[in-house]
Amino acid sequence: MKYSSFNLNVQNQKIESRIVVALERISEAFRALLWNESKESSLSPIQIQILIFIYFHSEEKCKVGYLADEFNMTKATISDSVKVLLAKELVTKETDPIDTRSYSLSLTAKGKKIAKKASFFASSIEKPIESLTEEQKVVMLNGLLKLIYDLNKSGIITIQRMCFTCSNYQLENGIHYCKLLKSPLAENELRVDCPEHELQL
Ligand code: SF4
Repeated sequence: MKYSSFNLNVQNQKIESRIVVALERISEAFRALLWNESKESSLSPIQIQILIFIYFHSEEKCKVGYLADEFNMTKATISDSVKVLLAKELVTKETDPIDTRSYSLSLTAKGKKIAKKASFFASSIEKPIESLTEEQKVVMLNGLLKLIYDLNKSGIITIQRMCFTCSNYQLENGIHYCKLLKSPLAENELRVDCPEHELQL
C-alpha cells in the first residue's frame, strides 16, 4: 500500500480506504462507550473487559495467559488488572488441583453484578444494526468474519473462536457445515465467538 487510508485524496477514491476509516471510527465509538462504563464503575477499560469476558466464558478460558492473548496484552498487564479486581473483591482465584501454580478466575456476586451491567456497554452500537435489512446484516457479518479471519492468519488478531478457524467447520459446495452440531449453518448463523469452538491444528 503506497498511500495512507487517512489521506483524504486517496480515501475518497478508494472504497477499501473508506472502509478502513469507517472501522476506525467505530473502534473509537467502542473505546468511548467502554471508557464511560469504566468511569461509572471506577475501573479501567481492561478491567471491565476482563469482568465481561469471565461472565460469559468457561473456566478454562479465564486464566491470565488466555486473557493476555484474548486482549493482545502482556501477562504482566493482565496480572496487574487482576490484582485490582481481587483487591476489590470482584473476582476470586480457583487454583488448579493438578497444577497448583495455575489458577482460573471466577466472579464474586459483586463482580457478577458489575459485569452484567457493563456487558450492555455496546448496546447503542447494536441498535442501528437492528434497522438494517437481513440481507445487509448478512453481507456485513460475512465481510467482518472474513476480515477477522485474515487478520488472525496474519497474526494481528490473536485468539479467535469463529467458525472459520474451527476444526468442526466444513465448507462444501458453498454450504457451511458444523460437524459438532451435525447441521448446515446458514450465512446468518456463522459464529464469531462459539463456546464449542475447537481450534484447527
Ligand atoms: S463448533 Fe461452533 S465454531 Fe465450530 S463450526 Fe460449529 S458452530 Fe462453528
